[in-house]
Amino acid sequence: MCEFCHKHGEGKKWYLKAENYSEDLLSDLNRHKFITDFFSKLGEPAESTERPGRVNKMPRFVRSVLNPYLVGRQKKVHYGQVLPIEDVEKVFSFVSSVVRLPCICRHVRLGTEQRFCYGVSMAPQEGELYKIIRGIDMYYLTGPDVSGLEEVTKEEALDNFRQYEKEGLCHTVWTFMAPFIGGICNCDRSDCGAMQSTVVHNFPIMFRAEYVAELNTELCNGCRQCMRVCQFGAIGYSAANKKVFIDRGKCYGCGVCRASCTKDAIHLHDRASVPAVANVW
Ligand code: SF4
Ligand code: SF4
Repeated sequence: MCEFCHKHGEGKKWYLKAENYSEDLLSDLNRHKFITDFFSKLGEPAESTERPGRVNKMPRFVRSVLNPYLVGRQKKVHYGQVLPIEDVEKVFSFVSSVVRLPCICRHVRLGTEQRFCYGVSMAPQEGELYKIIRGIDMYYLTGPDVSGLEEVTKEEALDNFRQYEKEGLCHTVWTFMAPFIGGICNCDRSDCGAMQSTVVHNFPIMFRAEYVAELNTELCNGCRQCMRVCQFGAIGYSAANKKVFIDRGKCYGCGVCRASCTKDAIHLHDRASVPAVANVW
């Protein structure tokens, strides 16, 4: 179990605890302000995702002091975790409404509207989080004529998530001042600032999933499709065996490789049941 499961989930998966999506948490004025600022500064490079590149250029001793402090602060405000499709389905089983919105990272990096992010709420219609966002005077998210925030059914959202996974995108869940959870995104390494920060700059902004992938070598035919879609470089190929292998130390447990395998050769196991990576987050 990750640190958030102990801190915000009473020893169970924190993102499956309904209270962490509740409207009650939005009555906190600090959180309200944080969310307003977060979306208001959309046109600027996100501080949390640009900072790692700058910190990486500093001397090692400065980094060794700064990194734990900055990561700790990040955990309090905006932090994520990878989750596989079966846990996305569990979240969708208890939330009441789903709103699709443009991805901030892709907007900042590509300058285009790409709708890969989904807000989830316990309120029957949109909920307070989306009232806050709609209240921010910002063309990109609020109109004027188009609906920057788009209500979708849970079934539509899940169909989209399954399709994203086939395309190699990894699902991630996000806080807006922990433990409040505001949404689930679909990320790839080329465009997601948080993923780059975590994987490329070694400045974690999200936890690995509560799972890790395992390969059944008997079933693997060595086609390497899984290797092409793994965002984390966790799959290699053995020319001698003519099969792939999974480096568990690098695996984030997203399950994207599993979705690409026509031989059903990859399964996810609870990270906690694999001692070598039980505490690797
Ligand atoms: S996609 Fe499946 S069969 Fe192909 S290399 Fe990967 S595990 Fe093996
Ligand atoms: S090997 Fe791990 S990180 Fe790579 S796609 Fe599979 S589950 Fe995700």
